[in-house]
Amino acid sequence: MVEGTMMDVPLTLKYLLERARTLFPRSEIVSRAADKALHRSTFGDLYPRACKLANALTRLGVKPGDRVATLCWNHTRHVEAYLAVPCMGAVLHTLNLRLHPSDLTYIAGHAGDSVVIVDSSLLPLLDKFVKDVPSIRHVIVVADGGAAPAGTLDYEALLAAEEGSFPFPDLAEGTPAAICYTSGTTGHPKGVVYTHRSTMLHTLAVCMADTMGIRGQDTLLPVVPMFHVNAWGIPFAALLTGAKLVFAGPHLDPEGLLDLMASERVTFAAGVPTIWLGILAHLDREPRRWDLGRLERMVVGGSAAPPSMIDGFSRRHGITVMHAWGMTETSPIGTTAKLRPIHDDLDDEQKLAVRSSQGYAAPLVETRSRGEDGRVLPWDGKSMGELEVRGPWVAGAYLGGEGKDRFTDDGWFRTGDVVTIDADGYVRICDRTKDVIKSGGEWISSVELENALMSHAAVLEAAVFAGRHPKWDERPIAAVVWKPGAKATEAELRAHLKGKFASFWEPDLFIEVEAIPKTSTGKFLKTKLRELYGDRLLDR
Ligand code: AMP
Repeated sequence: MVEGTMMDVPLTLKYLLERARTLFPRSEIVSRAADKALHRSTFGDLYPRACKLANALTRLGVKPGDRVATLCWNHTRHVEAYLAVPCMGAVLHTLNLRLHPSDLTYIAGHAGDSVVIVDSSLLPLLDKFVKDVPSIRHVIVVADGGAAPAGTLDYEALLAAEEGSFPFPDLAEGTPAAICYTSGTTGHPKGVVYTHRSTMLHTLAVCMADTMGIRGQDTLLPVVPMFHVNAWGIPFAALLTGAKLVFAGPHLDPEGLLDLMASERVTFAAGVPTIWLGILAHLDREPRRWDLGRLERMVVGGSAAPPSMIDGFSRRHGITVMHAWGMTETSPIGTTAKLRPIHDDLDDEQKLAVRSSQGYAAPLVETRSRGEDGRVLPWDGKSMGELEVRGPWVAGAYLGGEGKDRFTDDGWFRTGDVVTIDADGYVRICDRTKDVIKSGGEWISSVELENALMSHAAVLEAAVFAGRHPKWDERPIAAVVWKPGAKATEAELRAHLKGKFASFWEPDLFIEVEAIPKTSTGKFLKTKLRELYGDRLLDR
């Protein structure tokens, strides 16, 4: 018998804080403030400021295990909270500022938040729910333009009164570090509690070349909000690697983002497809206006990235889009769509098909799919079933033991996504289980129809959803948003889809809309479309 002889070093976020301070004090963090001014600081500034925040929170009575919420855009002070709160042993709870106040009341109450750090521009939103959450004892205002009103504390004034050092404890790696709530469109949101260990392992994973490949040479622009699954782990990855961080603050319009990418020489950006669709339209219109010579790659996920968009960026603008799938419950990186040598001999179109899939499991993550009868399905690229995953940064339960039916008896998480998996492990999302269109017992993938419609030159966005049907139960209806100044006839859209799918997949109805309703994290809100237009086929 021999015993392992290696050190048992706990994986905790304190390591990131120390590493950033000692190795990368000159790495920059650039944030665009509400007034559009650029605020510059460094990882060297971050350490004493995180210590000051930890001292201030301690003085306010925050103890290990207490929940400290943020209601903030992406910016430097939000990173300070990302580090100070977990490293002092408390739990960071990032509130989604796009949620309805009643949801925020529920979520903040459910998590038992004791302190909220809020941008002054978001005070009107906080005012709508803070009184209904009795656990909240203190409100700390990040004055991004306005002043901290009476009854609240000013973030900078608090920090100014504190020491720039703090005795961060040596925590066990299983200590809770952060909470995010799911943004499900039905039922109450559920809490996912990331541990220090799961966060550190996920941070390592997003630095691998086959996932996001984040490295010290990068300048990172997470367009994805810091309240959406910890900005997909990008701020932590920056601290691990020394990469420069750029934040857009509240300015998420395509022009503002393009200006920032050009002026800060961003190499890597990440966000949901709707953001990039807007950016692509701008770049196509004015290809020479922005110098994006440094921008190598973009990670797109959160909902399906249309192949035409992935192709448009690389073919017309030399920017590689990497498609990734993940969830709040998976920290979020679950699968990423990178090519491998087995694809070398494929033609461009076939390669695009691989890159437009959701990709294969990230290292340490496992995938499988199960049919309605509970059997594990073959990896044949055809059989549609529910995706299940497991891994060290995948939730094994929800906060408070809710949603038990989402976890299988043999230790897998049921994602609620309907997928096929091919022989090489590449997953294709066909739908959410709730969105898949069940036409006379056959399943129709709304995502595939949407991707095909969005490859039409006149279509900016398309969402396909189930309309109730007297004979077939459900039939597809397509809602289409035109690109500015463009339009196509229904016959043209039908011709565009012809031959790409079995004929029964063709939508029964096309409707023009000004905008597709979206969820708080930028996904198509199919429940709303069904509510508005779901009976259209019955009336005909
Ligand atoms: P959230 O927890 O809000 O991040 O939502 C997770 C859900 O977003 C997943 O279960 C999928 O339905 C969807 N999703 C995330 N990434 C993708 C992707 N690349 N393609 C299609 N759907 C995605």
